Amino acid sequence: MSGPARILILGGGFGGVYTAIALEKLLARELRRGEVELGLVSRENYMVFQPMLPEVISGSIGVLDTLAPIRRLCPNTNLYTRTVESIDLDHRSVQSAAGFGTRQHHLHFDHLVVALGNVTSFAGQPGLAEYALPFKSLGDALALRNRVIHTLEEADIEQDPEVRRALLTFVVAGGGFSGVEAVAELNDFVRAAARSFRRLDPTEIRVVLLHAGGLILPELPRSLAEFAQALLSKRGVEVRLDTRLAGATGEHALLADGDRIATRTLVSTVPSGPNPLVAALPVKMERGRILVDRHLEVPDVPGLWAVGDCAAIRDASTGEVCPPTAQHATRQAACAARNIVSTLRGEPRKAFAFTALGKMGALGRRSAVAEIFGIKLSGVLAWWLWRTVYLMKLPGLDRKLRVATDWTLDLVLPPDIVQLKTERAVGVRREYFEPGQVVFRKGERGDRLYVVTEGEVEVVKEVPGRGETPVRRLGAGECFGEIALVSDGARSATVRAVSATSVLAVDRDAFQAMFATLPPLRGFVEQLIASRRA
Ligand SMILES: Cc1cc2nc3c(=O)[nH]c(=O)nc-3n(C[C@H](O)[C@H](O)[C@H](O)COP(=O)(O)OP(=O)(O)OC[C@H]3O[C@@H](n4cnc5c(N)ncnc54)[C@H](O)[C@@H]3O)c2cc1C
Repeated sequence: MSGPARILILGGGFGGVYTAIALEKLLARELRRGEVELGLVSRENYMVFQPMLPEVISGSIGVLDTLAPIRRLCPNTNLYTRTVESIDLDHRSVQSAAGFGTRQHHLHFDHLVVALGNVTSFAGQPGLAEYALPFKSLGDALALRNRVIHTLEEADIEQDPEVRRALLTFVVAGGGFSGVEAVAELNDFVRAAARSFRRLDPTEIRVVLLHAGGLILPELPRSLAEFAQALLSKRGVEVRLDTRLAGATGEHALLADGDRIATRTLVSTVPSGPNPLVAALPVKMERGRILVDRHLEVPDVPGLWAVGDCAAIRDASTGEVCPPTAQHATRQAACAARNIVSTLRGEPRKAFAFTALGKMGALGRRSAVAEIFGIKLSGVLAWWLWRTVYLMKLPGLDRKLRVATDWTLDLVLPPDIVQLKTERAVGVRREYFEPGQVVFRKGERGDRLYVVTEGEVEVVKEVPGRGETPVRRLGAGECFGEIALVSDGARSATVRAVSATSVLAVDRDAFQAMFATLPPLRGFVEQLIASRRA
């Protein structure tokens, strides 16, 4: 073939970036001579060091300190900071989003390494997409931190004790590593931060961890998991075992056993589904992950490789499918890089085999659990080990120095309670209501127009002598809430969900802007109001 060999990597996480780093080392000479071209496409121009994400909640490390710029980690790789939109295996090309321009970008490859990870998926659990906070990316950690501070601010001025209790209730679903580390940080932070709020009663704070099994951290030996569970309970976390999260409304976490917990902060670390790009590939899958051979190449598709969370990789020594962890992703990356180079050079390839060095989980305030080379550790020693190991693994000397400084200052300074308001105004959003749940009440301010997408609602009015009486039912494709928006007044009726109902909620500003500038919409709404009044 003429021209340089083109190796393209998709994904800027542990799998993708460590593949590029290894290829740069192995192909240094070929890269210098222009015989090979390395490219990496990722949505962000940084790699997130996920093991430290829980510490972003409490602010014990700076927001940017968990990120490493990809350009500095692999300077001889062409970085395309773009969203991949499709992969065409027949034409051996990848299409990415247009960026500032208007045209899709096409990249051709001879070898393609797919390292796109997995995605948060709330499919099949009503209300979670609308109300649960995921915990996977830096944005998620920052959103959670802001939510916690916001609820403390609200609770401090809330007069209604029931609403205040809901504001001070924090629910985390998932008793695996990320759920346990997140709840431990959240619990420490919220209790320490509450001291800065004059009117908050710390005894009203409730932090709940939901776990579907009988003991949290099932990946760890029983004694360590029991230690972690007992420590969390001692620090005030209510651990609810054998309890599944089944859904959510704006006011409650809905549990599978029919129970509900009033809260305004629900975090779900449980679900992850295949990346849609991965799911669309015409290759064999195992539980939503790309099935690869022992050299990490996809069978029957020469030149297609997969590593990390999106790949189903059997370890050559144990025969077991590797767990989705960073320590596996980085070793798979090195193995795939070696095998790509061997393929280019016509040399024999090696099978992937790696024995995990151990497992560690941080439990907040100078405590952790760890199993390293079969040795079990818990408490301060495990915490020290956790920090030492992850500090060493954090890419980049500058990041190491920053995190070490943050940790030192955090030992003596109070937690930072500054809320970063980064969200832009949302014009339209999805909302979900349980049967019987009130969407809005008569007399409330009219701040949204609702369009029913699924389910049914009823409009109820107070009729003298008859009390609350249903006057109308509305189903999919119908809207409500327009009267108060147009008249800029209060709600003239109460609306309640009859069945499980999903709606699109259009906020006041978006509605007013369209109402003022779109005559057909104006005509439709005026006609609708007239018919309802009649
Ligand atoms: C909170 C948390 C804590 C964790 N703690 C640990 C730990 O302590 N130890 C451990 O070993 N593991 C830990 N893990 C797991 C570990 O982070 C993952 O196993 C690892 O990140 C997998 O790497 P990956 O490259 O396969 O996927 P990811 O790191 O998820 O990377 C996927 C990349 O693909 C990019 N991407 C996806 N779709 C597109 C698209 N359409 N276009 C462009 N780019 C795209 C993403 O932006 C991302 O850069 C933790 C995970 C979480 C969420």
